[in-house]
Amino acid sequence: MTVTTRILIFMIAGLVLGSLINAFASDVAFIDKYFVNGLFHVVGAMFITGLKMLVVPLVTFSLICGVYGIGDITKLGRVGVKAFGMFVMTTALAITLAITIAVIVGPGEGFELTGDQGDFTAPVAPPLTQVIIDLIPSNPVAAYAEGNMLQIIFFTILFAVCMLMVGEAGRKVAEGAERLNEIMMQVVTVVMHVAPYGVFALMAKTFALQGLGLIWPMFSYFGVVVVALLLHATITLMLLLKLLSGVSPLMFLRKVRTPQIFAFSTASSNATIPVTLRAAEKRLGVDNPTASFVVPFGATINMDGTAIMQGVATIFVANVFGIDLGIGGYLTVIGMAVLASIGTAGVPGVGLIMLAMVFTQVGLPVEGIALIMGVDRLLDMMRTAVNVTGDLTITSIVAQSEGSLDEAIFYDPKAGDVEDIHLPHKAADTA
Ligand code: ASP
Repeated sequence: MTVTTRILIFMIAGLVLGSLINAFASDVAFIDKYFVNGLFHVVGAMFITGLKMLVVPLVTFSLICGVYGIGDITKLGRVGVKAFGMFVMTTALAITLAITIAVIVGPGEGFELTGDQGDFTAPVAPPLTQVIIDLIPSNPVAAYAEGNMLQIIFFTILFAVCMLMVGEAGRKVAEGAERLNEIMMQVVTVVMHVAPYGVFALMAKTFALQGLGLIWPMFSYFGVVVVALLLHATITLMLLLKLLSGVSPLMFLRKVRTPQIFAFSTASSNATIPVTLRAAEKRLGVDNPTASFVVPFGATINMDGTAIMQGVATIFVANVFGIDLGIGGYLTVIGMAVLASIGTAGVPGVGLIMLAMVFTQVGLPVEGIALIMGVDRLLDMMRTAVNVTGDLTITSIVAQSEGSLDEAIFYDPKAGDVEDIHLPHKAADTA
């Protein structure tokens, strides 16, 4: 059995167990204390932390190798511009699709406001000007310590470009980075071996706390988001992939299952970066220079799934409060959602912060967000899977356009399967 299959089985088992606990044992103090908030909580949190632990060193070493490997600054600029353009375009397509479906279906019409929907106080999002200024770290060590992805990308690229400029000294550092990168990739493989348990614990905890019953009162909203997410991931993105790169969407979907599962269970594109990067290079055959740059960049600024949620949420809340947004309002929502997805990082629940920005801009009551908060955790999982699918689609398209996609790897169903780990028992003998 491959590791992916095992992770999938554990994910479903966790989902079922969690839902059963929620339905039949949610008031059993023992289960709540020792399992849901005990074992599942601890194992799940350790797993997410373990993934996050890999992100900064992996991205750094990989990006150093990548930029050094490209060896050509114009090519780097071209890859960056292409990726950025595609990210913006797919986000705009995603939210346009979401708004279109939501306008047709009309979720929230006739929704009863009960008055006890809870409160939502919007956290303040930074202005776009600050986001642009903040691309440059005042202290790179602080950027690494905080895991600030855009700042890390900026500094690492600058550093690697200068490695190219200094010649011999740079080459030696690049060799070191290559070895470190290989070791970090192995760390990812090791973590993937324990992933089934982590995914199981995360699923069991989330579903024990968030019963599926939450969905029913919100079904019109929930359903429209899910349909739009599915259509975007399977039709829009796959059509783009086929048209722009010519490779098989079916093979692609098969290869990206593992990062999708990780994204779904962690609800964080950032925590999923190690797995996304691994899939891009080893499963899809994207070369290291393109993958190491486009994947973390996408995890930070490309959020198609989040944009879809925002489009539907805007229409839903407008319908509930009987506010007519008009075409101008919809266009503002599209523009704002694209900007918001660039300005906020891929961590759980960030979508709601972005939504508050969008609501303020179009004059919808920000308290309306309280209505959809109950089902947000479940939708966060799904939209994160779509966010990561978008990142990988664009990574593949950009790689193909640069001649950096190895189709032999792409079409080999077994390429990059997580191999068994062999511990070097007899290292002393061979030394
Ligand atoms: N959790 C999402 C991500 O990491 C962002 C969001 O929609 O809240 O991509």
